[in-house]
Amino acid sequence: MEHTVTIKSIRPITHDVFRIQLEKPEGITYIPGQACDITLTRPGWEKEVRTFTFTSLQDDDHVEFSIKTYPSHNGVTNQIRTLKAGDKITLHDIYGDIHYKGEGVFIAGGAGVTPFIAIFKLLKKNGQIGNNKLIFANKTKGDIIDKDRFEKLLGKNFINVLSDEQDSHYEHGYVTPDLIKKYSDSSSKYYYLCGPGPMMDAVEKHLHSLGVKDESIVKEGF
Ligand SMILES: Cc1cc2nc3c(=O)[nH]c(=O)nc-3n(C[C@H](O)[C@H](O)[C@H](O)COP(=O)(O)OP(=O)(O)OC[C@H]3O[C@@H](n4cnc5c(N)ncnc54)[C@H](O)[C@@H]3O)c2cc1C
Repeated sequence: MEHTVTIKSIRPITHDVFRIQLEKPEGITYIPGQACDITLTRPGWEKEVRTFTFTSLQDDDHVEFSIKTYPSHNGVTNQIRTLKAGDKITLHDIYGDIHYKGEGVFIAGGAGVTPFIAIFKLLKKNGQIGNNKLIFANKTKGDIIDKDRFEKLLGKNFINVLSDEQDSHYEHGYVTPDLIKKYSDSSSKYYYLCGPGPMMDAVEKHLHSLGVKDESIVKEGF
């Protein structure tokens, strides 16, 4: 697949995350949790393929990505900071290991929340939010993507963990076995995991130490 599409809008949603909405290409199909390889149409960048997760739903009239940018890498995401409506992006292959299997605990680190944004949008649409929980690990409050939306949607089932900021309303430190246990209950059949490699490795070990079997872990590394 290859579709070159126009950016309808682009705006910052945190200090370093941008939300981009694009024209929806004819015939594109994807499910919540899936990601897409993209390239920029800018001279010198056409061959640099990077992967981003759809934060829109198949039925939306546009395609959306939520992209954390890393100016220090001087790579594709730094270029994305200077894109504007009317610029073009090429969409390539679609794939991904995460999809919704049933109620559980979603554990995300930073931009690793993007597959869960799409999944929670679908659950809301289908009236299936139920007792699903989101444990979201970030450095500071300012890094929390879609904070208001998740607070409204999940209430007490939205648990924030901050490693670099102390606040009595939030858990402090990293995601630990005790923290996972504290927020798990009999409805926690699946554990969905997405974030940077080292965080994923650590949390997977914690889940195993709590007796969670591989069949109950749904994951994707960023
Ligand atoms: C399936 C999947 C889905 C994803 N979905 C999303 C998503 O929805 N949203 C999102 O924000 N991200 C997502 N990611 C992560 C995203 O793909 C990467 O953050 C992105 O590719 C980074 O691109 P970049 O060109 O800016 O930087 P990179 O490709 O990481 O780096 C560019 C260059 O910078 C240098 N560099 C690398 N690391 C450093 C460093 N620490 N300091 C200095 N220089 C460095 C290297 O020379 C490198 O070649 C996803 C990843 C996967 C695998």
